[in-house]
Amino acid sequence: MADVNGLARSLIATDLPRRDGVIQVGGLDLAGLARTYGTPLFVYDAARMRRAYRDLSQAVAGFAEVDYSVKANPRPAVIRVFAEEGAGAEIASGAEYEAALTAGLSPERILFAGPGKSDADIERVIAGGIGEIHLENFEEMGRVAAAAERYGQRASVAIRVNPGPDAQGGAMRMGGKPSPFGFDEEDLEAVVDRIVAEDRLRLTGLHLFAGTQGLSASILLGQWAYGLRLASRVAARIGRALDTVDLGGGLGIPYFAGDGPLDLDAIHSGIPALRAMVAEDPRLATARIVLEPGRYLVGPAGLYVAQVRAVKRSRGQLFAITDGGMHHHLAASGNLGQIVKRDYPVVAVVEAAGAVSMPWTVVGPLCTPLDILARAAFLPQLASGDLVAVLQSGAYGLTASPTGFLSHPLPAEILVDGGKATVIGP
Ligand SMILES: *Cc1c(COP(=O)(O)O)cnc(C)c1O
Repeated sequence: MADVNGLARSLIATDLPRRDGVIQVGGLDLAGLARTYGTPLFVYDAARMRRAYRDLSQAVAGFAEVDYSVKANPRPAVIRVFAEEGAGAEIASGAEYEAALTAGLSPERILFAGPGKSDADIERVIAGGIGEIHLENFEEMGRVAAAAERYGQRASVAIRVNPGPDAQGGAMRMGGKPSPFGFDEEDLEAVVDRIVAEDRLRLTGLHLFAGTQGLSASILLGQWAYGLRLASRVAARIGRALDTVDLGGGLGIPYFAGDGPLDLDAIHSGIPALRAMVAEDPRLATARIVLEPGRYLVGPAGLYVAQVRAVKRSRGQLFAITDGGMHHHLAASGNLGQIVKRDYPVVAVVEAAGAVSMPWTVVGPLCTPLDILARAAFLPQLASGDLVAVLQSGAYGLTASPTGFLSHPLPAEILVDGGKATVIGP
């Protein structure tokens, strides 16, 4: 049997040391935070975010800049941590635009993607300023042009490409499928020509985002190389340099037994070949090349803490019924884009050295069998009042969950930075 708790143990060992058996986050005692702020509770560690940002930036140095994809965790205080590191932001709504501005980003550091942008949101970013709007379909092209006309501006736009069948094989694992996102690669030249014909649009970039939770360095490098080739095609068609080439996010983190971390050394080893591709095309050589991960930067920095309300045994299986569940953390319940439901790493917040572990089914308080946080977490004996924590919970947590379901109160969100805790949401 796979060591289902191996991942949790290694995350505790590397990032979340215990002191007297209690998990410490950024130097603070997690049980103490739960007492102060109540449960359920999201806790994010700013130092861990900075480390992820710096590690990735160093791995791709000389090739790409790293921006932050806001939808992974849209709290302005989180965006600010990355902005202070030098990141711009990729947003997908007017509210995320406001969050990025609140975090102190200047409008030109913000990129606007998303397949169904509203007229109001398009107008808001054109009025307020925006680095680039990523076009995803012809109707949107017309609406952005019309909004730019109303404001007497010329909008900088990028083409988001849905890669074609050639991107399917080998190292890339993407493409060739129907998609609501972006323009089909087969139409690329026609799309370029349509944009060039619009007085109110200026084509400045290319955007390729192939998929989320990629744990293979070679697949990611292959996708980035593919994006560079598409960018060369666009630049050749318009006969001038592009300002930006946005190669998307999608860098994964380990969640499940058997997942290994993304190998940043392998990413780093692939950078010279990508730099050579850029150097070969003078129209790309001056472009800003951007990665825009969300999950990779903020996921490992977050924990979701819940308190046990009751334990019971049903037909031999041990259940811990907690105050936290899928209403706050849909992804951990396996109901956000997971096909085979597997456990996120779940640990006891307080655990005596040498405690005997047993398999627990950890569930939430909702009246649905879907509300499961772990199916077989190896945890010590639990009792009412004990705390459990779901690790790797900084991305796609609270704001990706059905918070209205069963009308429970929202949990507090805490940012730990420099040994201090601050309430940053909701
Ligand atoms: C969601 C999204 C991202 C971030 O994806 P991650 O898998 O969290 O890195 C980046 N770019 C776009 C356009 C997105 O929609």
